[in-house]
This record gives sequence, C-alpha cells and structure tokens, in this order.
Amino acid sequence: MQKQKDQIRDLGVLLQKKGLKLTYERKRIFEEVGKLREHFDADGLYERFKRKGERIARGTVYRTLPLLLECGVVQKSAGTGKKEFFERTSFKGHHDHMVCIRCGKIIEFHSEAVERAQAKACEDFHFKLVFHDHRLFGHCKNCRNRSVPPS
Ligand SMILES: [Zn+2]
Ligand SMILES: [Zn+2]
Repeated sequence: MQKQKDQIRDLGVLLQKKGLKLTYERKRIFEEVGKLREHFDADGLYERFKRKGERIARGTVYRTLPLLLECGVVQKSAGTGKKEFFERTSFKGHHDHMVCIRCGKIIEFHSEAVERAQAKACEDFHFKLVFHDHRLFGHCKNCRNRSVPPS
C-alpha cells in the first residue's frame, strides 16, 4: 500500500532528524500499529507482541508511540480512564472526540471549521503545530434525556 510506504518514509525522516535509527523494533511497532483498527494504548500494543512471542521491550513501545504521533501515523484517541489512547490516522482520517462524562460514550467528529480555526490560532502565535488532541467533555443525548438531573 502506497500510503504505508509514505508513512514509513516520513518516520525515517523524522528519526534521522532526531539522530535515531529505524531499528527492527521500531519498524515492527509501525507495522503492528498498521493492523489495528480500534484505538489502543501502549500496554495493549506491548501485550500483542508478547502474545506472539516477539521480544519488544515495553519501554520501546512507550518511546516509539510519541514518534508515530509526531509523524502523523497515529493520532491521540479517546478512552475511559487516565490511559493515553492512540489510533491509526490513515484508517478513518483525522477526527476529534466528544466524551460523555456520565456514560463514557465517545463520539467522533470532524469539523473543517474547527481545524481551520486551530491552524489560524497557531499561525497567530507563530506556533508550529505538531499534532493536536481535541476532546470535548459533556453529556451525550441519551444521558441528557434521562430523568436524573444532570451533574
Ligand atoms: Zn482535529
Ligand atoms: Zn452518556
């Protein structure tokens, strides 16, 4: 797939800029992330390798994910609890999340207007955006319709 080829090249360029190498482990992490359709966290990814009997250190997984984030292979996702979740960008395209703080429901949305406003704000502050993690917290439609008074 052309897209995956482009991404591994972008990753290579980023690593080079940082004085890092595209090691076997980093390449395997990149490949494995490419197979994931759902959001995941670092521990879940590490467990996948473990189940397959591949020796990839947990620390390597933790250190490689921010690199994939920086070159746009993954984006931050939303999930319950305090863990950081990621998902592959190329699968659904970039999107942001609304999180219901009552039932945990996660709504994915994409708004060109929001994306443009963010880009403009960065420009105004001479800020070079690397990635963003835009999450809105509130009450979903179901929870709003329940008779319990909203918290
Ligand atoms: Zn966005
Ligand atoms: Zn809800």
